[in-house]
Amino acid sequence: MNSTISKHIALISVHGDPAIEIGKEEAGGQNVYVRQVGEALAKQGWKVDMFTRRASSEQATVVEHSENCRTIRLTAGPTEFVPRDNIFGYAPEFVEKLLKFQNQSGIHYSLVHTNYWISSWVGMQLKKIQDTKQVHTYHSLGAVKYKSVSTIPLISKTRLAVEKEVLETAERIVATSPQEKEHMRSLVSSKGNIDIIPCGTDVKRFGSIARQAARQKLGIDPETKVVFYVGRFDQRKGIETLVRAVSQSQLRGKAPLQLIIGGGSRPGQSDGIERDRIESIVNELGMSSFTTFPGNLDHEILPTYYAAADVCVVPSHYEPFGLVAIEAMASGTPVVASDVGGLQFTVVPEKTGLLAPAKDEVAFAQAIDRILCDNAYRNQLGKAARQRVITKFSWDGVAQQLSELYTELLQQPTKVYKQLSAS
Ligand code: UDP
Repeated sequence: MNSTISKHIALISVHGDPAIEIGKEEAGGQNVYVRQVGEALAKQGWKVDMFTRRASSEQATVVEHSENCRTIRLTAGPTEFVPRDNIFGYAPEFVEKLLKFQNQSGIHYSLVHTNYWISSWVGMQLKKIQDTKQVHTYHSLGAVKYKSVSTIPLISKTRLAVEKEVLETAERIVATSPQEKEHMRSLVSSKGNIDIIPCGTDVKRFGSIARQAARQKLGIDPETKVVFYVGRFDQRKGIETLVRAVSQSQLRGKAPLQLIIGGGSRPGQSDGIERDRIESIVNELGMSSFTTFPGNLDHEILPTYYAAADVCVVPSHYEPFGLVAIEAMASGTPVVASDVGGLQFTVVPEKTGLLAPAKDEVAFAQAIDRILCDNAYRNQLGKAARQRVITKFSWDGVAQQLSELYTELLQQPTKVYKQLSAS
């Protein structure tokens, strides 16, 4: 790395706490991304501070992950869980607290990498006040999301405007797949600089245990056909399509079958309500004897579940990237996924898994059965899947690309328009 540039960088993730246990509450891909990117960049010599909103008075304000990587929780709004659609009102206070932290610590962040639209607004405010470069990752695009939901939240107008402004003004946007870049161009703006740098995964952790050992650990018979889902309970994740597809499997009643639906949820909250809805469909379809809900799958046990599965299903209505697909692939497990967004980039049909139209339970059933009924095909897909992740989606490789991008941006002079507008 060039020694003349400042090594202090901030990753900003107002609602996705990188230090939180994944799979709980609204935690998902963004939390994993920020944490992994932060830790990998620190290993490459950056001094990484990850800023998030403090969401409980029991949470520590600073969590040290390694010598050069820590999470800093700022108090902005109530110190309790706030759904992400309601957090934007606290963003000005977040900016204020971040500036205060900078002043008190004497650290100046010459580059901020913001995550999700709320943080992008924070980054844009910082740029108005000080000389800071901004890299932004969307994680989800309002313009895509609102196309597929029936009730559009009040905040949508603000979100769409902020997403357009950051695309046009950030020094660089990181799209995690070519499909996401295409959506930015067609639905948000033709202006702005976009690089494609994918998400990554830990290819040592996923792939560390063999199928038989994994099954033994989980008490699953070697002959049972295992279909696996893991992720947040959210209607847009399409779990209903998976359940209906498995109910139509030609193996039902003919071979031992197990459907595992993993992920945390809180009774009475949106994820708890979705889990109840899914459980009632499972009961209605007479599948409760072979369907299990193990709850949140933590860091330790998750690789075992992926390894034990014959197929991992990602039935999302939309996914800008979709970490679960590459985690399963790294574990040598083929993926059946919706033919949308980043899943079209990570899953290569007939090579590492199969794609089916989103919400199409018949197509999902056929794809799942093709893999369950043919062990040789399953093994062939699984082997190629792991190979694809090793070559394209390891965190170290992803962090290397981000590191090169930050270095390039920090070496560039501050743009003239900013100097003019500041004077
Ligand atoms: N996850 C987990 N345990 C769970 C549920 C989810 O570790 O019980 C992790 C999962 O392994 C993945 C992330 O949460 O790393 C979900 O990311 P993805 O991009 O698939 O979906 P998102 O949550 O961003 O919509």
